[in-house]
Amino acid sequence: MIMDNFEFAPAPPQRCPEAYGPRANNNQKRCFQLAQAFFKDGVRRARERNERQLDLERRLEDPAVGPRREQLWKLGGMSEAKYLRFLRTKEELSNYIPIKTIGKGYFGEVKLVRKKQDGKVYALKRLAKTEMVSHEQLPRVRAERDALAESDSEWVVKLYTTFQDSTSLYLLMEYLPGGDLMALLIKYQIFSEDITRFYAAEMIMAIEAIHNLGFIHRDIKPDNILIDREGHVKLADFGLSKGFSKSHDHSYYRELLQKPAPPNNKPANRNSVNLDEIALTVSNRAQINEWRRSRRLMAYSAVGTPDYIAPELFTGQGYSFEIDWWSLGAIIYECLVGWPPFASDNSYDTYRKIVNWRQTFFFPDDVYLHPNAAHLIRSLICDASSRLGSRGGAAEIKAHPFFAGVDFNSLRRIEAPFRPHLESDEDTSCFPVDELPQGEGFSNGPTNTNGTNGHQATASNFQEEEVTPEMCLPFIGYTFKRFEKTFM
Ligand code: ADP
Ligand code: MG
Repeated sequence: MIMDNFEFAPAPPQRCPEAYGPRANNNQKRCFQLAQAFFKDGVRRARERNERQLDLERRLEDPAVGPRREQLWKLGGMSEAKYLRFLRTKEELSNYIPIKTIGKGYFGEVKLVRKKQDGKVYALKRLAKTEMVSHEQLPRVRAERDALAESDSEWVVKLYTTFQDSTSLYLLMEYLPGGDLMALLIKYQIFSEDITRFYAAEMIMAIEAIHNLGFIHRDIKPDNILIDREGHVKLADFGLSKGFSKSHDHSYYRELLQKPAPPNNKPANRNSVNLDEIALTVSNRAQINEWRRSRRLMAYSAVGTPDYIAPELFTGQGYSFEIDWWSLGAIIYECLVGWPPFASDNSYDTYRKIVNWRQTFFFPDDVYLHPNAAHLIRSLICDASSRLGSRGGAAEIKAHPFFAGVDFNSLRRIEAPFRPHLESDEDTSCFPVDELPQGEGFSNGPTNTNGTNGHQATASNFQEEEVTPEMCLPFIGYTFKRFEKTFM
């Protein structure tokens, strides 16, 4: 029944599917997805275990190993035993000491924590189950957990384990103490061309890494680009990423666009192409800075900022990997100009500008851009069919003259332009910790934009049956444990 690449054979065709109602057919589909989610990790673990054994046996055949053979064999066995023990132990919140809240989204928060058992610090992201269910966010959670679990790239934040209790889902990740690219943009306002080239090149590597896994990120923006202790980039927040699993399928953005315009929106300009209502010029940088500061609060809201989203995501005409390259173009523009290309004072106007990008996209007269930089941005902020990267992937973008002389494969070995100054492993100075509510434990429920609790998470009907959290239907297959020598 089990096929290659962890794909499962679909159920044999029903003799007359019309004999069953849409509900039965729908249930059958859901059961298939659940069974797949339930067994997928077990199958993968068994395969990886076999691969590790074959790899060890191959290494032991090397005559150079000599007398160390027995020791190596023993060590291999010990780490497998340790992993099996780790699989049997129950991860729970009480295994971690909370230190500080370092990030917040609408559905949960991210805390710096210390693991009692090994004394090391980690970033722990918590998502409230009730919110995930009531806002139909389960595909988002599944997408994030799958993308991070499947990745083993130096460009993607490492996920060590996921666990759950009756109210929450948790993702335990490596802590990246350098903050995010949004914090750097707030601090420095604008980057030189060389610094922009560095971050752009690293972002290309990171986006390429997740595309190679078959995932489209769909939410590439500065607050999802994290900075490690050396100042290098890692991609986070796969809540909107789209893998090719059916359980990831949803129409998040289309629903957003169908929402009515905010009441204070000026309808007179609805059809106007002259949309630069807030006249973004260098002369009003104070206003721009204010706008940028409020971006943090936007990141805490359910919708988030649409500034970096490609137009084809809104129009529902279908999209593919190249949407992430549009977002890259918008970030490069922001680094060089000081604000993203479709910045407005409300999300609705930003949507309109993006959808009408042919009329609304421009470079401000008073900002000088090297022709190569401007050409690169124009090759990314454009129609999907002619976008750089749409045919040849990352290689096409790397070959652009803007990156002439960049050695993409040795990027992580060069010195990063901004390296965080850290006093200890608990240093959170790169995060907006003063803006975030600092409770002892995790707060309940989502937060609204002023940082207070919107409403309390309560046990919902899906918990009424007496089942362990792991076996609770919507969350089957969520729990994950990585085979990682430094974490078990
Ligand atoms: P959301 O889906 O709510 O946007 P994110 O995963 O993007 O959640 O996390 C929110 C913020 O928390 C990020 O913008 C970043 O500042 C911080 N953060 C997230 N993961 C980590 C991590 N592993 N290390 C350090 N900071 C992190
Ligand atoms: Mg985020």
